[in-house]
Amino acid sequence: GRNLVKRFGGKKGLFQSAPTVHAVNNVSLSVMPGETFAIVGESGCGKSTLARLLLRLIEPTEGSVIYQGRDITKLPAAEMRALRREMQIIFQDPFASLNPRMTIGSIIAEPIRLHGLAKGKDVDKRVAELLQVVGLRPEYASRYPHEFSGGQRQRIGVARALAGEPKLIIGDEPVSALDVSIQAQVINLLEDLKEQFGLTLIIVAHDLAVIRHMSDRVAVMYLGEVVELAPVDPLYETPLHPYTQTLLDAIPVPVPGGKEKRALARGDIPSPTNPPPGCRFHTRCPFAVQKCREVHPELEDVGGGRHVACHLWREIQEREHPTAPVDR
Ligand code: SF4
Ligand code: MG
Repeated sequence: GRNLVKRFGGKKGLFQSAPTVHAVNNVSLSVMPGETFAIVGESGCGKSTLARLLLRLIEPTEGSVIYQGRDITKLPAAEMRALRREMQIIFQDPFASLNPRMTIGSIIAEPIRLHGLAKGKDVDKRVAELLQVVGLRPEYASRYPHEFSGGQRQRIGVARALAGEPKLIIGDEPVSALDVSIQAQVINLLEDLKEQFGLTLIIVAHDLAVIRHMSDRVAVMYLGEVVELAPVDPLYETPLHPYTQTLLDAIPVPVPGGKEKRALARGDIPSPTNPPPGCRFHTRCPFAVQKCREVHPELEDVGGGRHVACHLWREIQEREHPTAPVDR
């Protein structure tokens, strides 16, 4: 996506004017074929909106989405429909996205028929195959969504996404609604399928805990902006943005007798209708200085595939890791 902007509302009604919500503000990022790219941030940071913009499930207010060299925001509906098959999305709540009155078989068969990928008996064969691919029994085809557990429903969602033979799958918090014990299973499934089918994955998550082992690169979003973008290991080892550090601090650390969750950044997330001036994170940042309140930091390429939007990232690094300066 290039310079993507999405504003909601802002249209004047007869009796009231809705506030403009700056959901995604000037976000640019490119995802490489075959990579797993994670978009992480607290709720309201615009990550789901960004995911929907990338698939053109919603239209950007400004900016473009280039997919295989073409700006898909300008594609006519018919061409977009053909592309949709290649780009699938898996939602957070698998139950809400599965029609309760349709059998699992017909849910999975729908994209196969729609895109003419198989006919007649071959459709059922394909459905059975897909169920097996996601670790479910082929007999389940005749059952209904309510007969399955959350983890199984997410597997059904994955099978439906795979039915269109996609190249790109976007998971919008695909495991957030699942029990922790089930999360790893679904993550492992996605990783296996990625290898098996040569997929590109974009995973949207609200924390950094679940995605570390599956991601190649991570974009951290705060109030509609990417504040840090980096390959996964450097991001976890030496986060450059104070907000990324905050997210890392919030990862539960196992302690005897249970899990301890450390505090997130102090203060509440400001409203996206009225983001703070200057650096949007300044109201919660422990390092904020006057400049941060006045000047908006741009996402800066700092080498090694790393990008950060913070006026003080270098000073903070020198202070926090005096013996391990960041390689330029
Ligand atoms: Fe904190 Fe300032 Fe950096 Fe923003 S620019 S993250 S307020 S130090
Ligand atoms: Mg969301």
